[in-house]
Amino acid sequence: MPGPVESAPCSTCSGAGYVVEQVLGKPAQARRCPCQATCPRCRGSGFVLVPDGGGSKAQECACRHLDARIALFNRVGIPAALAKASFEGFKSYSPDHVAAKRVAEDFARAFRSDKPSKGFLLYGRPGGGKTHLLAATLRWLTLEKGVPGRYVEFMLLLSDIKAGFDSGRNQMEILKPLISVPVLAIDELGKERGTEWERSMLDELISRRYNGGLATLFATNYFLDPRAPAEEPGRAVRTHSKDFQRDAEAMSLSQRVGDRIYSRLNEMCTLQRLDPNVDMRKDGAGGYWGR
Ligand SMILES: [Zn+2]
Ligand SMILES: [Zn+2]
Repeated sequence: MPGPVESAPCSTCSGAGYVVEQVLGKPAQARRCPCQATCPRCRGSGFVLVPDGGGSKAQECACRHLDARIALFNRVGIPAALAKASFEGFKSYSPDHVAAKRVAEDFARAFRSDKPSKGFLLYGRPGGGKTHLLAATLRWLTLEKGVPGRYVEFMLLLSDIKAGFDSGRNQMEILKPLISVPVLAIDELGKERGTEWERSMLDELISRRYNGGLATLFATNYFLDPRAPAEEPGRAVRTHSKDFQRDAEAMSLSQRVGDRIYSRLNEMCTLQRLDPNVDMRKDGAGGYWGR
């Protein structure tokens, strides 16, 4: 290994160089770990020596990217409650969990900014950890890879679009930041059915991203077909809140978002079920919140 003395990994950040924290009322925020106040690799010079032929040459130290990556993470908009969400912290309790984590992690690791990539859509009843995986993916992409991303909740997205339009901005002005970001995660897709106009804006956003080869990630509480979850082959019956059960039986994702958007989702995403066998928030089996 090149460069000065390597010491044992920091116990605060395990060598990552950054820590992420929950700040009340704000999206999740990352900052430099105190161990990076003076970079242990370059001792603050910004350069390390690497072998070059028989001698050595100076190369930019990775720490130079750290502040830029932290700034990227802080712009994602991950909810404070999910500040600690990471792939390492995702607990797999069922085959769905294992498969969904693999889909998300494969996406993050294989992602390249210079190639079109297919996103993913996680579906299933609340409590399975879908938002955790969206947040973990964006965390990994920004902090480990330096790829910009944004997290938005579907209902807030619709109300932002509406507010923008009401204040006289045109469609493109409103959607532009979301059309151009390399990775966009839309959570709670279909929670609001939306007006015809809101659906056409959403279709515009998704289609433009798709045509531009940009990856979009989704999570939804609705199933892909109108059958109730318990009727899917091989599924154990587990009763959830009656309201939710009734709602899910009455509505599939295609009914919530419309056929046009639904068929687009099929083209641009890997569709993966993540349905809880155990509702971790209710049953207190640990859960995904801030651990
Ligand atoms: Zn540290
Ligand atoms: Zn350094």
